Amino acid sequence: MKRSTGQDRSITRHWRPATQAVRGGTARSDFGETSEAIFLTSGYCYDEAEEAAARFRGERPGMTYSRLQNPTVQMLEERLCLLEGAEACRAQATGMAAMTAALMSTLSAGDHLVAGRAAFGSCRVLVDSILPRFGVETTVVDGGDLDAWAKARKPNTKAFFFETPANPTLDIIDMQAVCDLAHDAGALAIVDNAFASPVLQRPLEFGADVVAYSATKLMDGQGRVLAGAVLGSEQWMNDTLLAFTRHTGPNLSPFNAWVVLKSLETLDLRVRRQNDNATEVARFLETRLPRLLYPGLESHPQHALAMKQMTGGGTILALFVDGGRPQAHALLDALQLIDISNNVGDSRSLMTHPASTTHASVTAEAREEMGITEGMLRLSVGLEDPADLIDDLDQALRAVGL
Ligand SMILES: *Cc1c(COP(=O)(O)O)cnc(C)c1O
Repeated sequence: MKRSTGQDRSITRHWRPATQAVRGGTARSDFGETSEAIFLTSGYCYDEAEEAAARFRGERPGMTYSRLQNPTVQMLEERLCLLEGAEACRAQATGMAAMTAALMSTLSAGDHLVAGRAAFGSCRVLVDSILPRFGVETTVVDGGDLDAWAKARKPNTKAFFFETPANPTLDIIDMQAVCDLAHDAGALAIVDNAFASPVLQRPLEFGADVVAYSATKLMDGQGRVLAGAVLGSEQWMNDTLLAFTRHTGPNLSPFNAWVVLKSLETLDLRVRRQNDNATEVARFLETRLPRLLYPGLESHPQHALAMKQMTGGGTILALFVDGGRPQAHALLDALQLIDISNNVGDSRSLMTHPASTTHASVTAEAREEMGITEGMLRLSVGLEDPADLIDDLDQALRAVGL
């Protein structure tokens, strides 16, 4: 690798995160391109047959097939390793591919998983119905109840899985305490960090063994591609995750990897600004609504814990109207600037009604248990001027009599 890339991890790991986000992982070709190249190739050629054989034996470095390695994807993986402070990373096609790979590579029939109950809808489906089909026993607990995590452990508990802040109720889970409980039981702690991003929270510093991402959210941040990533130790990556993904192929395409790579250059800027905008919007909404959840406000029941493990309250808030689904839908329909959309982490502010969209496939009992009421709306705050967002929310609230 060329000196101009500066890619020696003994140097790059000392860079500050904003620098890592711009430059980490860059591997230049012989053309010396400034911006990262997109290597849209499925395979690689060898100068001689023995070179191919040696690479397949794992005796020589070099790429063999893009299900296993790709230069653009590797640049993204290295950049994410640096941002997260992890030894190893493997990019995945989507956030759900990342969650599925992290869990299915770790768990076998007869193993037991304990998971936080407030979770992204598809994560709940994975835990509640897909994993059990393969003989994995699962227990869902209130993530904020440390006693419940402790009591749920069994001799065959192999992993803990949770997200914090959790989607869409913004429950905060005490990462250090829950990871310690997992380790006491010899279980792996897997954290879905999509809602915070490494700018606001680095779970490995609080005891997590594995961090999994939907990079579709804040990492792409401009609503273009689906992507995911799993990070952890070199040993776990080689022995566990790769043993599964090398042969099951949930790979990220080099083009999508490149889009995310370019987005990471502005991750620090975007997340901090969106976090500040969300704080302003939350302060406004708090004066107008009976109930609002935003971890950055003192009114959030776990504000102190959030501030212990996050550097900001995040970019997402949950608001509640008393009039149930009719009033929640009417509020969405009255918006003029903010879009009705179920994505999060976009540069555009987006609002959705979780009970009828993202969490519609979760049973009504599970929704109730998670605190997803018919009057709940989730707002992902973008990069617009917060005064315009507040004006839009103000007129929409008036339109529905609030
Ligand atoms: C979006 C999301 C996922 C799934 O990611 P996709 O990229 O949509 O597959 C998983 N967990 C959380 C917390 C999410 O927000």
